[in-house]
Amino acid sequence: MDKKIEQTQKLTISTDVDELVGWLSSTGDRQTALFERAREVKLNRIGNVVHFRGLIEFSNLCRKNCFYCGIRKDNKQVSRYSLSEEEIVTAARYAFDNGFGSVVLQSGEITSQEFTDFIERVIKKIRQSTSPEIGITLSLGEQSEETYLRWREAGAQRYLLRIETSNPKLYKLLHPDDSLHRFETRLNCLYLLKKLNYQVGTGVMIGLPFQTLEDLANDLIFMYRFDIDMCGMGPYIEHAQTPLYNFNSELMSLQQRFDLSLKMIALLRLLMPDINIAATTALQAIDPIGREKAIRVGANIIMPNITPAKYREHYLLYENKPCIDENADDCLSCLEARIAMIDHRIGKNERGDSLHYQNRNKKNQVYGSYLSGQNQ
Ligand code: SAH
Ligand code: SF4
Repeated sequence: MDKKIEQTQKLTISTDVDELVGWLSSTGDRQTALFERAREVKLNRIGNVVHFRGLIEFSNLCRKNCFYCGIRKDNKQVSRYSLSEEEIVTAARYAFDNGFGSVVLQSGEITSQEFTDFIERVIKKIRQSTSPEIGITLSLGEQSEETYLRWREAGAQRYLLRIETSNPKLYKLLHPDDSLHRFETRLNCLYLLKKLNYQVGTGVMIGLPFQTLEDLANDLIFMYRFDIDMCGMGPYIEHAQTPLYNFNSELMSLQQRFDLSLKMIALLRLLMPDINIAATTALQAIDPIGREKAIRVGANIIMPNITPAKYREHYLLYENKPCIDENADDCLSCLEARIAMIDHRIGKNERGDSLHYQNRNKKNQVYGSYLSGQNQ
């Protein structure tokens, strides 16, 4: 047998911090073995299919001031915008017409009764205008249980809320120390989303100032223990109009952040073989074929930006964001060719729900019927 295959077959990963740190610092043959094993596991469990989520960044209004983010409230250089109900539904319809099985609605954090009502109406309208109904993922930050429930009942199935870092001390360094930016609140929101039976996605930024490899290893363990269904994580990329920019001298190079991100994806795939893992746009900001590289080492989701082009330059979470001056068609056709080049196919018209979520629900049902059997 080929020596390389023998090596990769022996590769198993556990939730041991030191072991994970070892993998995160791996280079050369050891790193290659990690990538190959993650690729094999993904192909076995998920297949060579990539599902698209049309990303609609529908508003850059935000009440928060995260130190790393370009659209933070206090950045007065940002010109603020919000799409109308009709513009969002039109974008979702575009996604549907082009075979995307799902859309993601993302914005800054806005909390008000009007906003809750607005999103509820948008979800219902998207469902009415697509048949079979397109999948709807929300990424709208921290909200009340009641709001999450209303959106779930309106028909959203998934929610993305990155924990950003699982280390509460590091979280504190990255956010203002006030009641709007509490680690505990973010964590509690993730529990609420799980309780409301969303497919729950989280993730972290990789290569932040003050972040250690131990922190990243603990992030992987956090996602494993929380039993997430989806993950979106990618490199931290600095933005000059943010407070964290002052700590640039603490940063590793962009290439190192990129490599570390690929290792994080590969390790998570080995720890959680059936979850959905996004190849995030931030990877493409560093390497033009960054997302394709992520697909090769375990990711299975791409989120093409289908925000109307005139708004894109105003949703700059970080610098060098790609595809901001292209229209949605350009992005789609270039992506189709890129996916074919890495021997993958696009799961057109398929929702691409998290297999992990389906499997965990099946387990719960079996366990539930076992319990109800005992009660009889
Ligand atoms: N307001 C929502 C959703 C939009 S922000 C929320 O915060 O959850 C989406 C993600 O962008 C954040 O979770 C964060 O991880 C990421 N992000 C923000 N600034 C970034 C930066 N400078 N580099 C990389 N990712 C960044
Ligand atoms: Fe607002 Fe999200 Fe940016 Fe924080 S990361 S400032 S919540 S858009």
